[in-house]
Formats: sequence, C-alpha cells, structure tokens
Amino acid sequence: MNIAVIAHDKKKDELVELISKYKDTIAKHTLYATGTTGLRVEEGTGLNVHRFKSGPLGGDQQIGAYISDQKIDLVFFIRDPLTPQPHEPDISALLRLCDVYEIPLATNVGTAEPILQALEAGVFEE
Ligand code: PGA
Repeated sequence: MNIAVIAHDKKKDELVELISKYKDTIAKHTLYATGTTGLRVEEGTGLNVHRFKSGPLGGDQQIGAYISDQKIDLVFFIRDPLTPQPHEPDISALLRLCDVYEIPLATNVGTAEPILQALEAGVFEE
C-alpha cells in the first residue's frame, strides 16, 4: 500500500513515535510525506520516504494530487488543532479529497493507532 504521512510541527514527535512503534509493519509499504515530516520520519525511523515539498509550500496539494490519481491508499495527517496554519485551505482540500476517494484517514494518534493495528493484522490486504 502507498501510505501518506503528514504532521504539523507540534505533532511531528508523536508521528515519529507512532511510526517507530509500527515500523516493521509500515516497512512493508511505501511511505509518502510532506517535506519536513518526511525528513523527520527518515531520521527518526530509518525508513525510506518519498518526500514532497513542505506542506505550506505546496506539499499538501501534491499529496492531494496523488490521492486524486488514486496513488495513495491510506493517510495519516496528525493535525495540531490548537495552532493556526497559514495553509489551512490546502489542508482542507487534502482532507476533502480523502472523503471524495474514500481513503482511510486518521487525523490524530487515537485513530491512527487502531488503523495501524488493522494494517498489522492484514485487514487492508486485497
Ligand atoms: P511539513 O508540512 O511536513 O513540511 O512540515 C506539514 C504541513 O504542515 O502540512
């Protein structure tokens, strides 16, 4: 599966911790990320990540384009709900496309974790 991961700045540590916890499972799939998130995931877990531009510089839109081309199967977008984001319209657009294409989407670790457990259990296998 192609998995997109994005985390706002204050949530990047949480995402890296989560990916580290499920590293063996995630390593069987292909990771895509916005620029800074991808760098942090690579450095923190040693996994390879296809990195797009940083979110505020168009990375969310690039991932959105991949979603609309049906190249992404699962999205983890760990958002910071307490900090205004300059690229809020891009974030909303990405989330909307997940709904348009019915792509499983987690916007917090509480949801991401059971999705990763399902991935681990092979629930998503075709
Ligand atoms: P970043 O972008 O990974 O480049 O920080 C994430 C975002 O804020 O959309």
